[in-house]
Amino acid sequence: MSDYHLHLHPHQPSDQGPPPGEYPPGHIEAYVEAAARRGVHELGFTEHLFRCFESGPALGDWWEREPNPRLAANTREFIAAERNLSLDAYVTAIEGAKAQGLPVLLGLEVDYFPETIAAVMELLDPYPWDFLIGSVHWIGGWAIDNPSTGFEWEERGIERGYDEYFALETQLAASGAVDVLAHVDVIKKYGHRLSEEPLHHYRAVVAAAAASGTAVEVSSQGLRKPAAEVYPSPMFLGMFREASVPITLASDGHQPDEAGWGHDAVVSAARAAGYVERLQFRKRTANPVPLT
Ligand SMILES: [Zn+2]
Ligand SMILES: [Zn+2]
Repeated sequence: MSDYHLHLHPHQPSDQGPPPGEYPPGHIEAYVEAAARRGVHELGFTEHLFRCFESGPALGDWWEREPNPRLAANTREFIAAERNLSLDAYVTAIEGAKAQGLPVLLGLEVDYFPETIAAVMELLDPYPWDFLIGSVHWIGGWAIDNPSTGFEWEERGIERGYDEYFALETQLAASGAVDVLAHVDVIKKYGHRLSEEPLHHYRAVVAAAAASGTAVEVSSQGLRKPAAEVYPSPMFLGMFREASVPITLASDGHQPDEAGWGHDAVVSAARAAGYVERLQFRKRTANPVPLT
């Protein structure tokens, strides 16, 4: 089995892991070994694009367009602390691990902003990606999956937060820019929920993914967060299945002992939705393989 959403450096500040941008001997092996103990034998690494300094010109300073100065300052400080990785060094580390025979794939977690996705795809074009996953982490300058911006829910309200999040997620799904939608309902991460699941938003994302040929990941990350639920929710995942949108399996781990974390839970969720296959990627070409 596989884990197609892994990071090699924890978010900052952290006393875990190697110094940002460094890939010491044994670091990638530690992920491979931890995953193998969970029965996971194929690892797709997906470092955050926004953390790589090379992404600066393509992504631009999106937080500076944010009208709320508190949200803008939050993201400005966050990026200053987190942009300490190199895309080139990351690609070299993964390709080196592959050359050593480790069962790893070169992926990337691509931040979606409608204004800059074309420039981002141009930046990424020369690299030998096996697959790209796409994420909505920001609504304008609001970092929706960062607990330090929880105050914004009071301002915006849950309904508007969901409307704005899913509008972006639908655009990402329609764009066809990436191979897989990451944590597709991450807006629930800190437990902000509508009284009923937003089926009209789910329908829009599912239809866009089906039309563009984009897959969706089934991720255990939400089980480690207040959401206490796999991404996507059982109902949302069932709608993807009905539309024949394929899946990958994911932990979104940021350190070796999280590799393959929650694997049994994501496989169970996929089976409960009716899936019998997941995708395997090589050089951005997908092949269905059995969910065994
Ligand atoms: Zn993410
Ligand atoms: Zn991630």
